Amino acid sequence: MNKKLHIVSLGCTKNLVDTEVMMGRLQSYQLTDESEDADVIIVNTCGFIDAAKSESLNTIIDLDATRKEDSTLVMAGCLSERYQDELSKELSEVDIFTGVGDYEKIDELLANKESRFTDEVYLIDGAERVVTGSTYHAYIKLSEGCNQTCSFCAIPSFKGKLHSRNLDSIAQEVERLVAKGYYDFSFVSQDSSSFLRDQNVKDGLIHLIKRIELIEGVNSARILYLYPSTTTLKLLQSIAASQIFHNYFDIPIQHINDEMLRMMKRGFGKEKTIELLNYMRSLPNAFVRTSFIVGHPQESEAMFDELCDFAEEFGFDRINVFSYSNEEGTTAYEMVDKIDDDTIAQRAEKLGEIAAACTTASLKKEIGTEIELIIDGESDEHEYLLSARKLLWAPDIDGEIFVNDKTIDEELEFGIIYRAKITDITGDILMATVTGHA
Ligand code: SF4
Repeated sequence: MNKKLHIVSLGCTKNLVDTEVMMGRLQSYQLTDESEDADVIIVNTCGFIDAAKSESLNTIIDLDATRKEDSTLVMAGCLSERYQDELSKELSEVDIFTGVGDYEKIDELLANKESRFTDEVYLIDGAERVVTGSTYHAYIKLSEGCNQTCSFCAIPSFKGKLHSRNLDSIAQEVERLVAKGYYDFSFVSQDSSSFLRDQNVKDGLIHLIKRIELIEGVNSARILYLYPSTTTLKLLQSIAASQIFHNYFDIPIQHINDEMLRMMKRGFGKEKTIELLNYMRSLPNAFVRTSFIVGHPQESEAMFDELCDFAEEFGFDRINVFSYSNEEGTTAYEMVDKIDDDTIAQRAEKLGEIAAACTTASLKKEIGTEIELIIDGESDEHEYLLSARKLLWAPDIDGEIFVNDKTIDEELEFGIIYRAKITDITGDILMATVTGHA
């Protein structure tokens, strides 16, 4: 009887790729959603801010509480890596601890019931992975680690320096996935616009775009996690000229006040940041997504107001709002004049409302337009409403579209690209009528 595996992937899409690598090594197991039935439970944890750390610990505790007596509970990933000494001593619930270096060795660790923390950060290179969540879309990891020194960020302390994959490795993975029917790809890392800079290549993403465009069967692609000071106009022009890569610009800028950007060590001030954003938005069908942090030490009321005004005026399509998390090992941790929790919460709420209004405004602009979308399946709302995603959008983070009508006779299929007209909006969900094939 196949042993049963229950696996949980927390945190970011980079972590998800590593989880899929572990699943690739454990294909002899039967996957189960019922953790109580599982022989092996793996949690790939996230450890970059307090909220994520709590979620990871609670997930471990909850799974342990209901698991089978003779089952094995594995804690992997960033939280485990970052606090390996403390956790190994304190978290007796866990049978096997591993960090961010041994994903491709998970079967060995289970066979030997062994905890292991290999120094080198794992970077996929040819490993077979089990892609989850879609039959046509896959995340592709560009690199691991980061050379930036943002004041608030602990990621480089446990993911190390920038380590890029080489182009052949990425292209071969995409080719293998195309052969399995995947045609839509999101390229991810901590700092994508620095891709190949650790190999002394300035505009590595331009080389990536050219290489991926040569692969027959890749119909759609986007790049996530651009970093302002390493995102060049040449790169943006290369994206704009591509028939495959969307004018999808995911660029966390974190703040807009000059003094705060300097304190955050973001490498770009207000003027250059706005110049870059304006150029992005000037491109056809541009979609601009960003992230802001509120409550960083020494963030004055005036700086926060400046950020709110900018967020309201610029017209971002999507905004993520993060509350500052006081992370040991970061330069911000050593700063004086910390902002109290209530003020941080108030600022996050206020900017969160602005972010929601930006999303609604961006969605409303779509009404009456013709777009390309992919139907993922029946919606959770109603069996007659099909759940779809605009092809340009990234999965899971940019929204959902309900298909409630069609002008073509044939049955609608899941996982293929259709043309559709956006007819209406309900709440933050667009309604669409399929009008034909792309
Ligand atoms: S770019 Fe900045 S925020 Fe992102 S992983 Fe690197 S140091 Fe952290």
